[in-house]
Amino acid sequence: RRLTVELGERSYPIWIGAGVLGELPRLLEEASIDNRRKLFIVTDEHVAPLYLDKVEAVLRTAGYMIYHSIVEAGEKAKSLSVYERVMTEALEAGLDRQSAFLALGGGVVGDLAGFVAATYMRGVAFVQIPTTLLAHDSSVGGKVAVNHPLGKNIIGAFHQPRLVAYDTELLRTLPSREVAAGFAEVIKHGLIWDETFVEWLEQNADGLQRFDDNLLQEALLRACSVKVAVVSEDEKERGLRAILNLGHTFGHAFEALCGYEKLNHGEAVAIGMVAAAMLAERLGIASSISNRTRRILEQYSLPVALPYVMEADAVIEAMRRDKKGEGGKLVFVLPTTIGKVEIRKDIAEEPVRDVLHA
Ligand code: NAD
Ligand code: ZN
Repeated sequence: RRLTVELGERSYPIWIGAGVLGELPRLLEEASIDNRRKLFIVTDEHVAPLYLDKVEAVLRTAGYMIYHSIVEAGEKAKSLSVYERVMTEALEAGLDRQSAFLALGGGVVGDLAGFVAATYMRGVAFVQIPTTLLAHDSSVGGKVAVNHPLGKNIIGAFHQPRLVAYDTELLRTLPSREVAAGFAEVIKHGLIWDETFVEWLEQNADGLQRFDDNLLQEALLRACSVKVAVVSEDEKERGLRAILNLGHTFGHAFEALCGYEKLNHGEAVAIGMVAAAMLAERLGIASSISNRTRRILEQYSLPVALPYVMEADAVIEAMRRDKKGEGGKLVFVLPTTIGKVEIRKDIAEEPVRDVLHA
């Protein structure tokens, strides 16, 4: 299945399907990346043993010259020191302005390789081969970044890929917690934009959790389409794009306070989306939506409440530190009904405390 992302004058295709990897040479060719160009694959230590040989074999057969760099798995790889190492390896391989970087992995590898591609000789072509469900989110929108010790995604750029090749076969080896975390963002895309998608996710939860390929392709396509719709209206985050942060004001604070260990991003966002629904109800913006929000998240094996008590003061302080807060104000994306949200910058602390104590 093909989805075209149109942003201003540029556009790129997202190919979603079982076996898309086998088509990679043809897709690269269509994206004007022919086999006279050098390719540099960035992947991580979990993905490399599973898929790197296969990807390299497909590309070598098509006559490409390929190099690779394998980084540590997890968020630590989004650092300036790993960035520099990948840059060095690419320079040593003799990559030039005509070359392309391929990200083979989840959002971490995508963000890292994308930032390398954005800055290598002031920018070269970039291709994503996502291997996680969550990467449906990072494959649209062109945000690429590494972290600074003082903040996540602080050092970054906007750099659109030329092509996204999403092979659903590669998702089968994902650990179950990563699957659930990916579904949290899929569900988020329904909750902010499209009630019929939420209904569809409710009805197909069993099939999707069994990784029925048809359903999986459809879920990824629909979730990516929501992100495309939002981002194409607001590429540089001046307004609308902020709705993608549903559950994230709470979620980022929860993640930060548990030292990014007990909860992963998707789990923290899931709990955050329930908290946002409760806050909306408390403020009278919405009625009876938190139960349905909880139910769908539980269908996808996601947590809907904090695993342990967090001090409301500490949570609020962490929210104020989050870069999405404007001038220390608490900014929330709040659901008004299932499938619609509003951005509110004027929320007092009291109702937030109430929700955290509930
Ligand atoms: P990830 O890339 O760390 O992958 C999660 C884990 O799964 C890792 O241990 C990885 O090695 C492993 N893995 C990946 N594919 C696998 C496979 N097919 N089989 C087995 N194991 C596999 O994390 P993620 O959840 O994909 O992405 C999170 C990152 O994405 C965060 O850094 C976040 O900031 C970023 N992100 C970026 C955007 C954006 O717009 N750029 C959007 C959302 C998230
Ligand atoms: Zn997120």
